[in-house]
Amino acid sequence: MIRLFFGLELPGELRMRIAALASGIDRARWVAPENLHITLRFVGEVEEPAMEDLAGEAASIRFEPFPVTLSGAGHFERRGRVSAVWLGVEPDPALAALRDRIEAAAVRAGQPPEGRKFRPHVTVARLNQGRPGEVRDWLAANTLFRAVPFTVASFALFSSTLGRSGPNYRMECLFPPEG
Ligand code: ATP
Ligand code: MG
Repeated sequence: MIRLFFGLELPGELRMRIAALASGIDRARWVAPENLHITLRFVGEVEEPAMEDLAGEAASIRFEPFPVTLSGAGHFERRGRVSAVWLGVEPDPALAALRDRIEAAAVRAGQPPEGRKFRPHVTVARLNQGRPGEVRDWLAANTLFRAVPFTVASFALFSSTLGRSGPNYRMECLFPPEG
């Protein structure tokens, strides 16, 4: 079995800028700079042939390169506790269209449809417990975060290996705009 997701890489400069925000919440698990990304479609654990089907369907997706801008900060909760803090992605029709085409490709490849709403973001830290005050301060400090737009000129299928010191992502396939 291999754990997969479709996503976007971030430019190195942007990853460095985000990495500089990785402080101020005690016991947060900050995402390593090389792991910062935007998930377009989480797939989960699949067998090798399913991965080939996914890659095959995704390879037929064509799109025009488009700009993406990171903006704002937010958090996810699990059981009433903050489980992650993230930077937002400005809503964009081209991004939503790409994610919809990847969703359709995943379904054609035999994956169950994703029922959850697409909420694009860049996870900056995961938390088991964190002091609410520190989380609030981090969010307040980054609510005006705004990055220079970058151009999405490809998307990728990543594998994820969950290890003791955090996940390790590996790009398995890169999909260019021309399909
Ligand atoms: P860890 O699970 O060890 O905290 P991780 O969440 O980064 O690490 P994965 O669980 O393999 O690693 O997830 C890979 C990517 O997919 C991450 O961006 C994660 O936020 C996202 N993701 C994981 N599970 C889901 C899900 N059920 N729905 C949507 N996105 C998900
Ligand atoms: Mg996870």
